[in-house]
Amino acid sequence: MYEPARSRSRTPKGMSQLDASTAPRPLVKPHRANEDPVAAHYCKTLDEIQANHYDVVIVGGGAVGSAISHRLLQNDPKVRVLVLEKGSFLLPEHVQNLHPQYQRLMAEAIAKPWDLAPGTTFDLAPQIPYLGGRALFWSTWIPQPKREQMAKWPEKVLDDLDHGGYWQQAKDFLGAALPKEMGPAFTKFQPELIARLRNGLGHIPNFLPVENDGDLIVPLASRDTESELKYRKFSPVPRLLQDATDHADRMHIVTGCEVREIRHRRQARHDQGPKGPCQATELVTAQGNLPLRSARLVLANGVVEPTGLLQRSFAQILPKGAGTNLGGHVASWFSVQVPRAGWKDLGDTLQVGCTYLRGRVHTGERTEKEEHRDFHIHLMGASNPHPESAVEDLYRLIPDSFDQEFLAELSDEDNIGFLVHCLGEWRSTPGDQAGSTVRFKDGKTLLGLKPSERDLALRKAMDEAARKLVEEVLFAGKAQDKDKIRYWNPGEPGKPGEWQKELPAGRLKDVLVHESGTLWMGERPNDSTTGADPITDLNCRLHEVDNVYVGGAATFPTSGSWNPTLTAVALGRRLADHLAPPKKEEGRTHGEHSR
Ligand SMILES: Cc1cc2nc3c(=O)[nH]c(=O)nc-3n(C[C@H](O)[C@H](O)[C@H](O)COP(=O)(O)OP(=O)(O)OC[C@H]3O[C@@H](n4cnc5c(N)ncnc54)[C@H](O)[C@@H]3O)c2cc1C
Repeated sequence: MYEPARSRSRTPKGMSQLDASTAPRPLVKPHRANEDPVAAHYCKTLDEIQANHYDVVIVGGGAVGSAISHRLLQNDPKVRVLVLEKGSFLLPEHVQNLHPQYQRLMAEAIAKPWDLAPGTTFDLAPQIPYLGGRALFWSTWIPQPKREQMAKWPEKVLDDLDHGGYWQQAKDFLGAALPKEMGPAFTKFQPELIARLRNGLGHIPNFLPVENDGDLIVPLASRDTESELKYRKFSPVPRLLQDATDHADRMHIVTGCEVREIRHRRQARHDQGPKGPCQATELVTAQGNLPLRSARLVLANGVVEPTGLLQRSFAQILPKGAGTNLGGHVASWFSVQVPRAGWKDLGDTLQVGCTYLRGRVHTGERTEKEEHRDFHIHLMGASNPHPESAVEDLYRLIPDSFDQEFLAELSDEDNIGFLVHCLGEWRSTPGDQAGSTVRFKDGKTLLGLKPSERDLALRKAMDEAARKLVEEVLFAGKAQDKDKIRYWNPGEPGKPGEWQKELPAGRLKDVLVHESGTLWMGERPNDSTTGADPITDLNCRLHEVDNVYVGGAATFPTSGSWNPTLTAVALGRRLADHLAPPKKEEGRTHGEHSR
């Protein structure tokens, strides 16, 4: 039986590390693979691979890096791939596939490898700088955006994603499962919740109409094996280790190897003189220098880090606009309890509900295309009449678990509980130096996070929609019983939280989540030299550098309100096909999880 831990905790119950305003602890210094028994078995040191030739060198062993390396190996039986990961080996799996005790590691694992520019009051959601990256702890919701939600994306890229099989491939890679496929805990509460939302959402301003149950559901990255345990959450680590084992002669992972600079040279070309194309030649890493030889370099190390790394390395070459257009999502989230009596027939065992509500707010922007902004809510419910016995299952099944101990409080004999996580578009503009930016200056990566009034108005509107959702749909009791609704107030760092009647003020987060956009892709007009020129081309290659590519959300022209991992993985698969076109059957979608 799972017992909530009583030992030290930096944040009180119900307050996640994303709520805590305290800075993360200093990281344990990353070490070389030969200093760690697990990494020593699967990974290498830089010295061990120094003499090898690779076709593709990938920086970052997260969801995107693992998707690109996997696809490259699938495509071409001869391709040689190197993954350089700055972190050490932390977890073998997604944390929610392990005992809940492991989630405490999040407090030690998160990092903020950036500084805030003067005057910046918002912060960015933290990184997980270990093999596996953020998908060790998060990244479960994997909605596929509709074309109309991908404003300003190049048509060619959208066509490829839609017609090249990349969405399905990305779902297969991540192990997409629908909640109803995830076992008996989704049989009673889930349909009841969906029925209520279908009837009730239409009456609340700013929610999009629900035409069928599918409008309220998105797949979860919750299955990465063929086993009957459908709720295993995706993690890049097993995939990377399996690939490094299956292809030991041509796929290597070097852990504890931060890439700090990319050296380069201009190729002299008789027709272009000293302005010939630029070529990355060598990486300066925490373990020494690595010549790239003929390898192509892929930066799959998030959004802020590759932007800072490129600005540091290619200061004279990158266009001025690089680092602008930092967008993503504004956030508001809270937890709430409503009386169980308002719900019927939920049974005596753990039941989980997991829905995705879409909304749109008209913000009065000038052009017709930009007059609205989207938001979505991850609505997760738990009916857990015997919390002392079912919390471990709840912890594994719920998509967003930022705090394992709080889950024991969420639902009891008398109440059911909901986590209400709202995310909405934070829009930035390419080339806007006064907007939100990443800048490398004086040896530091500086974040200037400046939400506009419209970004903040959206945050308020979606938060208001969430409040109405609770009172008008989830509560479902008599009007005179409304005071039985209880909101969780996580309290201050170091103090215990409590249930209260009012929505907690701290639910509006001064944080940018799901960052994107700083190295946005697009075709350049031949004669354009404005600060708003796209930074990467339609194959995610730097316009100015012949052999450097960017994998991940930094290339997104806009972020929409959808969660980014599925799209970043789909784009990564497409990039892999560009780097090493498939030699066997095209568009293969099976056999991802044949372990
Ligand atoms: C709280 C939270 C919840 C989230 N939930 C979801 C969700 O439900 N659905 C969703 O789609 N998305 C979600 N996301 C976003 C999601 O986590 C990211 O989109 C995704 O993990 C990005 O994958 P990545 O591989 O691009 O980057 P990362 O996961 O950040 O991996 C990058 C890797 O590169 C390494 N690295 C960095 N710099 C260097 C360097 N210089 N040299 C070598 N290695 C380096 C890092 O250590 C890391 O391992 C969430 C994010 C947060 C913060």
